[in-house]
Amino acid sequence: MIPNIHNPLSCKICDIHKSLFDGNILIQNQVRKDLGNLEKEEIQFFHATDHWVLREAEPEKSCKGYLYLEPRKHSESFTDISSEAYKEMGVLIEQGMHWIEQNFHPKKIYTLTISEAVPHIHFHLVPRYKQDVKGLDYLKLALGSLLGKS
Ligand SMILES: [Zn+2]
Repeated sequence: MIPNIHNPLSCKICDIHKSLFDGNILIQNQVRKDLGNLEKEEIQFFHATDHWVLREAEPEKSCKGYLYLEPRKHSESFTDISSEAYKEMGVLIEQGMHWIEQNFHPKKIYTLTISEAVPHIHFHLVPRYKQDVKGLDYLKLALGSLLGKS
């Protein structure tokens, strides 16, 4: 079992991670789809390693397969990420991409990091399914939870 890396800072991402680990529902290197009653409505997929959490975005995003990749340690700069964490990151991006592709078959998967609204650094893996809106215009809708409203 992965130890809980509790962070005392007020941070949305740290709070989500804490709730996942406190709920005893993260199992190292194992993908689970059934999360019991905790967070079941909010998170359908996640995967945890020593350094990262890969998890599905909230349903409000209205984008099936949308994933976040977040360091478990509260970090506001990419220079705070350890070499070990960077080594794990590539594997997790690979796993996330394959999970999205195999389950949802999007036309394209975008990858980006901004970390302005929530300073805890994180990556977005954002599938695109339609051809009408692409690139930055699509990402503004996806990140702004506006896809279901367009
Ligand atoms: Zn944090």
